[in-house]
Amino acid sequence: MQEIKLRQSWINNFLRCPEQARQERLELVSQKETSDLLRGNAVHAAIEYAGLLRMGGQDVVTCDELIDISDTYLAESSNDVEVWRESYENIVDVCRANVTTWYNELNPILDPVGVEQTFSKSMGVRHGVQLTLTGTADWNDKSGVLWDWKNPSRHYAAWEKKRWDIQSHAYTWALEKEQFNLAVLAKGELQVIEIHRSEAQKKAFVELCWSIVPTLLTIDEATTWPQRWDGWHCSPKWCPVWQAGKCRGEHLGQNPW
Ligand code: SF4
Repeated sequence: MQEIKLRQSWINNFLRCPEQARQERLELVSQKETSDLLRGNAVHAAIEYAGLLRMGGQDVVTCDELIDISDTYLAESSNDVEVWRESYENIVDVCRANVTTWYNELNPILDPVGVEQTFSKSMGVRHGVQLTLTGTADWNDKSGVLWDWKNPSRHYAAWEKKRWDIQSHAYTWALEKEQFNLAVLAKGELQVIEIHRSEAQKKAFVELCWSIVPTLLTIDEATTWPQRWDGWHCSPKWCPVWQAGKCRGEHLGQNPW
């Protein structure tokens, strides 16, 4: 029996570009630490702190405490950033604004039963392969809704997320829920996208995961998987394979346009 573990975030990478996903899975390349990641992680750290306190029976956390957590995270982790897309000062301001918005608008209506909740769930066995989905849910709320915190530079198109977002399928399937809310914090402005996933949608997601398996089984012999050029991801800004001077990066260099 061969066990294959799929991480939700890797499924997204695979669907964007199989070759990039192959190189990441084999650890031939890795994503650079960016200021975007730093911003998201700092806000996550503050919300996680609030959620754990609440689960521990303390709900008297103040907004200033959460801003302190975010500021400290930024100060301690900024040296790891390899690619700065905006200034450190901007990141601090945006994180403070996002934490404040979360505290004022969401903290009063939320009550967690799980924070940064990891899961590992079998998708069954087919043709000698045991397929397992793994991931970490930001917030499992007592109301039955899963929440996920996003800190992009602008709000999302809600219809796109509702129609094809993978993460909401993965988490509602794994944790047996029906609703997944994206809390999108952009420059202190909150957008909530409510996504409902039916049993039929979850079954379709399981089949999507199994559709990746035949390709995954070739990973030890394949010298490449299909390349997918059509999208923002295929650029020196976003693709670690390109950045490493391989695939399109080998021919087009770091400043192609
Ligand atoms: S350069 Fe483009 S096609 Fe090649 S691995 Fe990266 S995203 Fe895929």
